[in-house]
Amino acid sequence: MEAFDYVAPRTLDDAFAVMGNGRRTLMLAGGTDVIIQMREGRKHCDQVLDLKHIPGMQSLEFGPDGSLDIGAAAPLAVIYESPEVRANFPALVDAASIIGGTAIQSRASLGGNLCNASPAADSSPALMALGARVVIASSNGTREIPVEELFAGPGRNTLQPGEILLRVRIPAPAPNSGAFYHRFIPRNEMDIAVASSGVALALDDSGVITAARVALGAVAATPILVPAAASALVGKPANAESFAAAGEAAAAAASPIEDMRGGIAQRRHLAKILTVRALEGALNRIRESR
Ligand SMILES: Cc1cc2nc3c(=O)[nH]c(=O)nc-3n(C[C@H](O)[C@H](O)[C@H](O)COP(=O)(O)OP(=O)(O)OC[C@H]3O[C@@H](n4cnc5c(N)ncnc54)[C@H](O)[C@@H]3O)c2cc1C
Repeated sequence: MEAFDYVAPRTLDDAFAVMGNGRRTLMLAGGTDVIIQMREGRKHCDQVLDLKHIPGMQSLEFGPDGSLDIGAAAPLAVIYESPEVRANFPALVDAASIIGGTAIQSRASLGGNLCNASPAADSSPALMALGARVVIASSNGTREIPVEELFAGPGRNTLQPGEILLRVRIPAPAPNSGAFYHRFIPRNEMDIAVASSGVALALDDSGVITAARVALGAVAATPILVPAAASALVGKPANAESFAAAGEAAAAAASPIEDMRGGIAQRRHLAKILTVRALEGALNRIRESR
């Protein structure tokens, strides 16, 4: 590995000062992607900027309205071990608890998973389904965007030079709602998704779907939202017929590649099946919470 300086600023302003010193900088949270990429010569820098010591970067905060605000460098295990997260955001737990194994989860962060911008990253479809937004900071201030606007292509995010992903914000779950994340991998653990689906559903008292979000991973150059799948659900009863229509819409929206993990037809089929199963999972969660 090439030599680099390690810098661990204690404030956001110090971080921006380091980023502005003209040297090539790579940010580091858990390091489970970036260290490997540097070792393999896929990324180069003069200095690594460790974000973990900046106040708030590893904190979980729950709003009075039931929303969740997560520091971008908070380790996945800290997130999914939180009883409040487990009770109120189980779809986030679905994703965070299957990323790598225990050792990876104790270091890897949600912000790193998003910024690495893998089309197969597990947190992305789950957070998109949950309607998450991300707060981005630079020396000029902060801006907030829907999480889906963070992805530009495989391994490319939309952060501008000098920007840091600060926080991930998830709105409070609506009454009578549920969400679920599901992926297919060829082995039981330590592999990345061949395809994945994250969904969220809200129902009225008669069981009709009032709101829906469907997101897919590993079937396009970025994780994608599928508005056509949501449209196939809203206004319909939460049953097998509606779920099948959403699954068909998900398959139609997929534009996968063929690689060593799976083929095009297989990934399209998986987009359909995983979406139906995720919808069933979300519906079960609504029923269990009544
Ligand atoms: C054995 C193994 C198994 C894995 N399995 C899975 C899996 O099942 N599913 C999956 O989705 N991933 C998997 N991964 C990938 C990886 O663990 C995740 O992407 C992880 O969440 C990245 O988080 P990190 O904190 O380690 O990021 P880092 O490696 O620290 O950073 C990743 C990238 O994001 C940038 N970055 C980090 N934080 C910020 C920030 N706050 N602002 C701006 N830029 C930032 C870094 O500069 C770097 O480019 C696996 C990795 C390994 C090594």
